[in-house]
Amino acid sequence: MKKTSLNPVVKNLHDKTYNWTNQCVQCGYCLPVCPTYESMGKESASPRGRINLVKMAAEGKIDISEHMAEPIELCLGCRACEIACPVGVPYGHMLEAAKDAIAQSKQQKRENSHFLLKNMAMNQLFPYPNRMKFLGSTVWLYKKSKLDRLIRKTKLFPILSEPLAQMEKILPPLENPSKRLKHGTVFPAKGERKVRVAFFTGCIMDSIMYKVNRLSIELLTSVGCEVVIPNHQTCCGALHAHQGATEKAKELAKANIQSFTQSEAEFYVNNAGGCGAALSEYDYLLKGDEEWAETAGEFAKKSRDISQILTEYGPLPFIKEWKGIVVYQDSCHLRNVQKVYQEPRQLLQSIPGITYVEMEGANRCCASGGIYNLLHFQESMKILDKKMKEVIELQPKAVITTNPGCQLQMSLGIDRMEASENIRSMHLVEILAEACGLT
Ligand code: SF4
Ligand code: SF4
Repeated sequence: MKKTSLNPVVKNLHDKTYNWTNQCVQCGYCLPVCPTYESMGKESASPRGRINLVKMAAEGKIDISEHMAEPIELCLGCRACEIACPVGVPYGHMLEAAKDAIAQSKQQKRENSHFLLKNMAMNQLFPYPNRMKFLGSTVWLYKKSKLDRLIRKTKLFPILSEPLAQMEKILPPLENPSKRLKHGTVFPAKGERKVRVAFFTGCIMDSIMYKVNRLSIELLTSVGCEVVIPNHQTCCGALHAHQGATEKAKELAKANIQSFTQSEAEFYVNNAGGCGAALSEYDYLLKGDEEWAETAGEFAKKSRDISQILTEYGPLPFIKEWKGIVVYQDSCHLRNVQKVYQEPRQLLQSIPGITYVEMEGANRCCASGGIYNLLHFQESMKILDKKMKEVIELQPKAVITTNPGCQLQMSLGIDRMEASENIRSMHLVEILAEACGLT
């Protein structure tokens, strides 16, 4: 073991995490809820094990890059352990601090392919809405021109990367990019105006899944919301915070706070569990910032998932029956961070004709985890395949999710089970819109 107590990265890790690591009483209550502990079966892949590693790294007893980095990077960040912990160890914040230390660690191998992929996504794509839109429009053209079928025949993607090949297969059908929401637009409420809300368009949602965004506005206006799409909004910064790029996450948070506070809306609504969790934790992210802490606190208080707003201001104007069994897969960040789990279920159960079945382990992570499924493909697929067995047993017509990553991961799971002809992966908004006769 190296003694690295003078290292400023170690000192910083110590300052940020040591008290939290000492809060852990090693009881192991968190172990049964941890998907990576279940799939990998070793203490270093458990919350308790990871906390111990962070503690030892913070004491300078082990090396950050050599001993702590891999077990921490194999964590999904689903934060199920936080909910199970009887003494309230703030695991999610500790994880972000550990990721920050890993990113700062001098021994980080910058030529590593994972590093390049993360770096490209975080620094060259997500913070730039126009680049994300361009990417989405390219995907639309790629599918529309049927180039996808041709490229698939060449087996180019599997040669480049197996995870990318799998993801390419399950890209959802895209509608014409001209239907994408325009920033700066205000959509009037249908009927009586009950509340003004500002809508967060997101990166993946706005680039690839913009149909869900468009349908979200239709649903919101149909329950009496006047919806504004604030100008100059940007990526929520979740991926940056989770990968240790805290300063960039703060920069993005400030841009969003500025953009949304000008909207004069009562609530800031999003439809992506992962983004929503980041938005609702801007107060934590900026808590030490004299200039921004207060507005960040107000911003976080106003942040809502769309299911909360639709439940509060509904009922939705359903006009169609939706026949068949549906199951719901929780978004970890919606359930474990935002504590929203009843509203999506209530909304699903309110659809006429539907048969809602609660799935065993619905609250267990699907192993999408931001870009975890690209960075740690095999580990992710082990967890996903187990979940899909639960899904298939119930023979649903649709698996419903509330986060783009989870929705794509479910599509991949369904494809891997060769069940695509019978089961659809849908966003909650899509099934609600179908039953409201919106297309
Ligand atoms: S965040 Fe999820 S994967 Fe990571 S230690 Fe906690 S339960 Fe396990
Ligand atoms: S449940 Fe909490 S206190 Fe118990 S081992 Fe896990 S993190 Fe530590």
